[in-house]
Amino acid sequence: MSTVPTEELDAFRARAREWLAAVGPPEVPLDLDARFAVLRRWQRTLFDAGWLGLSWSKEAGGQALTHAHQLVFVEELVRARAPQPIGLIGLEVVGPSIDRYGTDEQRRDLLPRMLSGADIWCQGFSEPEAGSDLASLRTRAVLHGDHYVVTGQKIWTSWAHEAQWCALLVRTDPSVRKQAGISYLLVDMSSPGITTRPIRQMTGDREFCEVFLDDVRVPRSNLLGRENEGWAITSHTLGSERSGATLRRRVELEVALEDALGQLRSGGIDDDRVRAAVGRSHIAMRVLDAQTRRTTDRLAADTGPTPVDSVDKLVLNEAEQTVLAEIAGLLGPLRAVPGARPLGLRSDRWAHEHLYSRAASIYGGSAQVQRTIVAERLLGLPRG
Ligand SMILES: Cc1cc2nc3c(=O)[nH]c(=O)nc-3n(C[C@H](O)[C@H](O)[C@H](O)COP(=O)(O)OP(=O)(O)OC[C@H]3O[C@@H](n4cnc5c(N)ncnc54)[C@H](O)[C@@H]3O)c2cc1C
Repeated sequence: MSTVPTEELDAFRARAREWLAAVGPPEVPLDLDARFAVLRRWQRTLFDAGWLGLSWSKEAGGQALTHAHQLVFVEELVRARAPQPIGLIGLEVVGPSIDRYGTDEQRRDLLPRMLSGADIWCQGFSEPEAGSDLASLRTRAVLHGDHYVVTGQKIWTSWAHEAQWCALLVRTDPSVRKQAGISYLLVDMSSPGITTRPIRQMTGDREFCEVFLDDVRVPRSNLLGRENEGWAITSHTLGSERSGATLRRRVELEVALEDALGQLRSGGIDDDRVRAAVGRSHIAMRVLDAQTRRTTDRLAADTGPTPVDSVDKLVLNEAEQTVLAEIAGLLGPLRAVPGARPLGLRSDRWAHEHLYSRAASIYGGSAQVQRTIVAERLLGLPRG
């Protein structure tokens, strides 16, 4: 593993900071459709300036730099109070797996459009009867000549109603051990036979969907990796989701806390209740810091998914839910501060973030299941 010289990262950081200050980040509306449009344009702006896919290959439209550069840019983006681009499922979750397991053609045809936001991607993994026990998924794909014919149902598929492409897990061999009969298809969402039905979340948004697939024809060339060998790629995708999001959320939470506090103090609100909330938040954040110190090294070493990704995710769940609940608890006092806009957001946005944080211990694999992975694979406890 090569280490990037500090001077190089410092110069890169200065360039990112200067660019972000000059471009001026967009305001993020609360309304979902308006937010989607603004963040998609923002993704294009970031892409055109060469800030996306920093650690991806040139062939994939990336910059062939390192995970350390990626982390530096994320830190600067968040510290500039700029939003994330809309296509995070592509950028953080599915894209790294296509870059690693895809054919040259798949990388060249799909990834630059994913980076620029021209194509939005969704992740069609969960099914009504297959969430935590993902390997029991039943969506079937049968090969007919040069096409698979896919039939089944997915659920909780974020952004499926807006997506141009889907990373879809299907069963191609029902006769073998369940993990051994799964394949990973890259599916054009405009294919005939696909219906999406948005589901309303407790935040009020309709961000995820049910997806129905009825005799959908998918070219054989859209198979990622080899037939019936999709489970290893699935683990890679879930590992990227757990670690990538953890690094980004760490900085986002740090800045959120800093802003909320600064604004409370500038409004003269600094009582015992605030101090206790800050104390609890800091403890959760310092644990997250300690845990993620090794995450960038692991990503840089490209060791693939490990059970430590599950520890990252658990520690992030804890910090995210603690910090956002503490800030939500301080919303009353914050409302008394004229013009308070922590992280550039209105207080109703904080309520939204707080509600959304409840999902952190479910998406990407529930907390209970992550604990089982840690118990069995890291601590060597007997299997339940
Ligand atoms: C906001 C959000 C966005 C999402 N986006 C996507 C997406 O884009 N694509 C996608 O494919 N999925 C997505 N999901 C789905 C997510 O991955 C699943 O919800 C998750 O894997 C849990 O599966 P489930 O909902 O079927 O719950 P279940 O598996 O039915 O679990 C229900 C409860 O039982 C517990 N449980 C289950 N099995 C065990 C066990 N063996 N031991 C101990 N406890 C257990 C779980 O922890 C949970 O508390 C999203 C979910 C959320 C909340």
